[in-house]
Amino acid sequence: MPDATAVPAFAELTAPPAWRRIDFLSDLHLSAETPATLAALEQHLQETAADAVMLLGDIFEVWVGDDARLEDGFEAHCLQLLRAASQRLPIYFMVGNRDFLLGEAMLADSGMQPLADPTVLTAFGTRYLLTHGDALCLSDQAYQGFRAQVRQPAWQGQFLAQPLAVRRALARQMRDGSKAQQKSEHASYTDLDDPACAAWLQAADSKTMIHGHTHRPGEHALGGGLRRHVLSDWDLEDTAPRADVLRLRQAGLRRISLA
Ligand code: MN
Repeated sequence: MPDATAVPAFAELTAPPAWRRIDFLSDLHLSAETPATLAALEQHLQETAADAVMLLGDIFEVWVGDDARLEDGFEAHCLQLLRAASQRLPIYFMVGNRDFLLGEAMLADSGMQPLADPTVLTAFGTRYLLTHGDALCLSDQAYQGFRAQVRQPAWQGQFLAQPLAVRRALARQMRDGSKAQQKSEHASYTDLDDPACAAWLQAADSKTMIHGHTHRPGEHALGGGLRRHVLSDWDLEDTAPRADVLRLRQAGLRRISLA
């Protein structure tokens, strides 16, 4: 198992000088059961004044393989929506811990650009460290072990070799199990490890991290002028609806609520 405390290699992306606004969002957990949240995403992608939208993981509740897009249904609908949006503006897609199996075929068909986790985005002369966030939840050792396993090409190849119907059934089982676990253990929900966040930022020569995953929107000072900005999850079906976008401009980051 790789050393979870090691600082990873950072991909680099430089925003074109013409860009004035960049939107970040994450953790929509889209599925066939979240039509209002999907509609909110579609509307935002149609109407945003941003020059690019960066999706920072867990856009989908689960992704069982790119071949799912070829069946009539939820994934095919999402493909159409994302393809239409990509024709309007650049959309960057970083995988999260739910949709890490979204791959090259879906990216190519939808016109989205892949965004590695982590990536240093240089925009307006400043370096921003973008990550989903799950790799920094170091106190959850069981999860880090699971993550190391399922991010291996061999594990993914084996999983994807199973028939689509089998993969869909496995995903349903895992989701039901995870929901039951969340209900019984929600008090001990893991957060990002702040010293590890600071170490990543220093290694990346950046002062500002933007991440999702924890569904705990906020802003945390890490010392030495280092900060992390946390996206909200999106849930427009909930009685307490939420859908935050962090919008980056020359002047800095601003949180916009679409709920
Ligand atoms: Mn996540």
